[in-house]
Amino acid sequence: MSPSATSKPFNFTEFGNVIDGKVTKTEKTRSGINPSTLEPLYDHPLSTAKEIDDAVDAARRAFSSWSKTPIEKRKELLNAFADAIDNYFDEFVELLIKEQGKPLNLAKFEVQLASKETRETTKLDLPKYVIYDTPEKYTETRHTPLGVVCGIVPWNFPLAMATSKIVVALLAGNCVIIKPSPFTPYCGIKVVELGQSIFPPGVIQVVSGEDNIGPMLTSHPGIDGISFTGSIATGKKVMQSASGTLKKVVLELGGNDPTIILPDVDVSAVAPQIATCAFLNSGQVCVAIKRIYVHEDIYPQFREAFVAAAKAAKVGDGFTDLGPVQNKMQYERVKGIIADSASAGQKFALGDEKISSGKGYYINRTVIDNPPDISRVVAEEQFGPIVPLLTWRDEEDVIARVNDTHFGLGASVWGKDVDRAIRIGNQIEAGSIWINHHMGVDKMAPFGGHKLSGVGVANGVLGLVELTNVQTFQVQRNGNV
Ligand code: NAD
Repeated sequence: MSPSATSKPFNFTEFGNVIDGKVTKTEKTRSGINPSTLEPLYDHPLSTAKEIDDAVDAARRAFSSWSKTPIEKRKELLNAFADAIDNYFDEFVELLIKEQGKPLNLAKFEVQLASKETRETTKLDLPKYVIYDTPEKYTETRHTPLGVVCGIVPWNFPLAMATSKIVVALLAGNCVIIKPSPFTPYCGIKVVELGQSIFPPGVIQVVSGEDNIGPMLTSHPGIDGISFTGSIATGKKVMQSASGTLKKVVLELGGNDPTIILPDVDVSAVAPQIATCAFLNSGQVCVAIKRIYVHEDIYPQFREAFVAAAKAAKVGDGFTDLGPVQNKMQYERVKGIIADSASAGQKFALGDEKISSGKGYYINRTVIDNPPDISRVVAEEQFGPIVPLLTWRDEEDVIARVNDTHFGLGASVWGKDVDRAIRIGNQIEAGSIWINHHMGVDKMAPFGGHKLSGVGVANGVLGLVELTNVQTFQVQRNGNV
C-alpha cells in the first residue's frame, strides 16, 4: 500500500490543476454550484492553452519511461490507487453529494464503484497473437501504447467516469490528462491529486476549465487519443476536431434505452425494478430506461404498480432516493420536455406540468401515459426524472418502433418466456442487450453504442485495446544476412 493510502495529507476544499506532479493555480478561477441548494462551491482552475501545453509536455516526457514500465508494476500502482480512493471514501462521498446532487447511498455506490472497477480492470491483459512460429519465420501481432490520452468526463458520474478513463489508459501503457466537466470538476481534480504520490509526475494529470478547453485538447498535436464520454452533439465536435491530427477517438455517447415488457411478467415484481432503472440518479444515467413498452394485456396493472413505485422514492437532499437535476441547463431542458407533453395534451400518470418548487434543481418524478412515438418524451434522450409508458401488441411492430431511432446504447426485454425475450432481444439494434435486467454494465465485458450512441467501446479487453496501436512484428529465421 502506498503512503497516501495510509495517511491523509491533503484537504478537500482547495482545487488546482495537477501538472507534472504539482498542484498548480491558474490566473482565473470559477466555482461550481451545489444543485441541491444553488450555493456556490469551491474555486477551481480556469485553464488556458498554456496549462494545456504544459500538461501535454509533461505527459510526453513521462511517457517514455511509463510506457516501458512492466504491466505487472502498472497493475500494482493502479491497485494502490484504488486503495487510496477507499482511504478517502467519506471525503469523496461528501464531495459527490455537494457537486453532483447525488443522494447519500448513490454517492457511496459511485465511490465504491470507482475503486472496485479500478481493481477489476487490472485483471485484464493486452492480447498478443502469434500468427506464425515456424523454422522459417516468426510473426506476432501485439498492442503498443498510443502515447498521451485525454479523458473527457461528463457530469453524471464525475468520479467513476474519471477513474475508468485513468485505469484503462494507464493499464494500456499511456499517460492520461483528465478534463472534468465544468459542472462537476471537484472529484476528478482530487482523484488525480491523490494519484500523485503513487504515479510518476506527468503520468496522470488534470486540467480544469470551461467547455472551451475541450477543443484545445482534442486538436492538440501532442495528444494521441481521446476517450470521450458525453452527449452526441459534443461527440460529433470531438471527432471533427480530432480529425486534423488523425487522433484515435473513443466516443461513449447518449442513449434512449427502450425496455419491452412481455405479457407474462409478474407485474408486482418487475414494475419496481423498471422504476429503479428509469429514475436512478434522477434519470441522469446514459443507460437509464428511457422508453417503456408494456404489452397491452397488462398495461393498466403495470402503470399502477410503476406509478406506485415511482411515488415511493423519496426526493430531496442527502438521505433520500432521488436528488435534483445536476445543472440549470439540464433542468431547463427537462422542464421543456414536460411542458411539451402538457401542451400536447398528453396524460400525466404521475406528476404534472408544475415543476417542484423550492431551492435546488428539483423536478417531480413524471410519468407520461402512452404518448405518441413522435413526441419529445419518447424520441429524445430526456436525461431527467420523466419517462413515457407505451403500449404494444404485435412483436414485429414493437421491435420496429424500438429500433426507429438514431440511438443505440442499451435495451432490455423482460419476460418469463426467456426464449421469446431472447428472440426479441436478438433483433434490437443496440450495443448492450439485457434480458430480465437492465444497466448491467460489467468491467469485464465491452460496452459501447451503436448508431449515434458511440464509436468504439469501453471495458473489457476490447476497451483496453482501443487505447493502443496494433503492431505486427515479423522475424525472418532463414534470411540471408
Ligand atoms: P457534454 O457533451 O455536454 O459534456 C461532456 C464533456 O465534454 C464535458 O467535460 C464538457 O466540458 C466537454 N466538452 C464540451 N464541449 C466540448 C468540445 N467542443 N470539445 C471537447 N469537449 C467538450 O455531456 P454532459 O452533458 O456532460 O453529459 C451528459 C451526456 O453524456 C448524456 O447524453 C449521457 O447519455 C452521456 N453519457 C454517456 C455515457 C456512455 O457511457 N455512453 C455515460 C455517461 C454519460
